[in-house]
Formats: sequence, structure tokens, C-alpha cells
Amino acid sequence: MKCRKCGGKGVINLRQHRLILCKDHFLEWMPEQVQRAIEKYHMFTPQERVLVAVSGGKDSLSLWDILTRLGYRADGLYIGLGIDGGVDYSQESLRLAEQFAQAHALKLHTFKVTEAYGLTVPEIAQRTHHGQTKPCSVCGRIKRHIMNRTAREAGYDVLATGHNLDDEAAVLFGNTLNWAAGYLVRQGPVLEADIPGVVRKVKPLCRIYEREMTAYAILRGIEYIYDECPFAVGASSIYYKELLNRLETDRPGAKLNFYLTFLQAKKAGLFSASADQGRQNLHSCPNCGQPTSVDGECAFCRMMARVKSKPA
Ligand code: SF4
Ligand code: ZN
Repeated sequence: MKCRKCGGKGVINLRQHRLILCKDHFLEWMPEQVQRAIEKYHMFTPQERVLVAVSGGKDSLSLWDILTRLGYRADGLYIGLGIDGGVDYSQESLRLAEQFAQAHALKLHTFKVTEAYGLTVPEIAQRTHHGQTKPCSVCGRIKRHIMNRTAREAGYDVLATGHNLDDEAAVLFGNTLNWAAGYLVRQGPVLEADIPGVVRKVKPLCRIYEREMTAYAILRGIEYIYDECPFAVGASSIYYKELLNRLETDRPGAKLNFYLTFLQAKKAGLFSASADQGRQNLHSCPNCGQPTSVDGECAFCRMMARVKSKPA
């Protein structure tokens, strides 16, 4: 296996691009790909301030690394969820995020749910969603709220997350199985700040395979948390990823094609914006100012009010 660019020892075979690269050329190739996606989808400019949502995993830390190397003004945001899972998942992910920020002299905002609300995410979920075994929907709501709020309050133009192609293809697959029109309309590399109270959200890694991100983090020497969140076990997104991996093995490039042709179809008008009823009926929550589709306070504020009113 020889690098196509220099004939040196190839370390990765990018089958979908029919490209074998050595370590140096792969580490060069990756930021170029990310830069291309940033430009193609008009994610942000070098003048804008970017807040990267950092979990301590390979994708978000590598994204932060790549954006900094590309010369963008990117700070990090770590949200401590208070999830233990036997390996002290949240503690370890914070340690790795802080370690990365320190080593590269970067600014990291940290927000600890337990300190702010006196409860961990699983505890909040238990109090507000009895009967649900996983705290994921509550966790997602809290993360979205905190990310958006921090970005707005600290004056960032855009919020970047480390979703890679495998993540996006799995979400797309799930939404397609359910023909979830509202979600399909919104899914894409960029979610514009087209309603008051939100910042633009972007996914610069959306065309990069998960295995390429793993290779990047390892070859770049980035120490990241290897364990998944303990609540991720059994998630349907993991099952969809496995199915798509089987497809990819037989047909290299299938995942990328699935995602990119979806974006093209959307651009051509396959899903009209009117399918996104939820987004059209949004207004500002009277308590926190973030958008909501229900009358009165948003789901986050109602949830936190319930948490406060209920003793443990
Ligand atoms: Fe939150 Fe873990 Fe569920 Fe992800 S898997 S949404 S981090 S609880
Ligand atoms: Zn090479």
C-alpha cells in the first residue's frame, strides 16, 4: 500500500475516493477537506467567532484541532452532564477537553449541569420523565439549550459540532425510515439562525467518515475518550450505523452518496420548507428567550420548573 502522492508508506485507504495516503499526506488532506466543506456550505468566515461543542471524543477534539490549524478563531464549550457509568465518563471527558485546550493555549468554556441545577442529567430525566429508561431526550434538550445560550451570551457567530458522515447518514436513515419531513427539511451541514434567539449551527465534518476521524485523532496524537456514553448502548443510531457499514463494505462510497444525494434532492426542492411546520410557528420563550413552538415557556424552562418544584 503506497501513498498516491509521494509513494511512501500508505497508512489509510480512502476507498470511496480511491486514494491511499501516508501519514503526512493524510494529515494534510483532512484539513483541506474540512476547509472545502466550510466554503461549499458557507459555514463561516475567518472573521467570525466559532464556538466548538467539545465532548472529549475524537470528533469534537479533532474538529477543534483542524479549525485552529486552518486559522479560525475557535473556542471550545464543554458541558458536564454528570454521567458516571462506572468509568466516570463526564470527569474523564472534561479532563481530556481541558488537557487539549491547555496544550494548544485555547479557551474552553465549561458548563456543569450539576453545579448549575444541583442535579445530574440522569437525575433531571428521572424527575421529569418517569418510566423512560434513557435520559437521552432530556440530555439533548439540555445540551441544545446550553450550547445556544453560551454561544449567544458570549458573542459567538456560529456553533460548530463534531458530527461526522456516519452520524449524519445514521440520522438521515432514521428520519427517512419514518419520513420525518420536519427533521429532513432541517437536516444539513448548516442550520441558519433564521429565527430570533438562535445562533447558526454547522457541522464541518459532515462529509468525513468516522474511521477517517479516528485515524486523524490517532495520527495527530490527540488523546480522546474512547468510551461511548453508557446510555448510548442500544441506541437506534448505533444499529443504523451498523447497517450502513454493511452497505459501505459492499459498496464503497454508499454512505457518502446517500448523504450527498439527499442534500442535492433537498436543494432541488424535494422537501419543501412548508413541511417544517414546527419551525414556522416558533416564538420566543418569555423566560429564556430561546425559540419554542408551544404557547408560553419553552420545554426546557418547563422541565426545569418541574425539577425545582419536586423534592428528591
Ligand atoms: Fe446524552 Fe449519553 Fe444519551 Fe448522548 S447517549 S444523549 S450523551 S445521555
Ligand atoms: Zn505521502
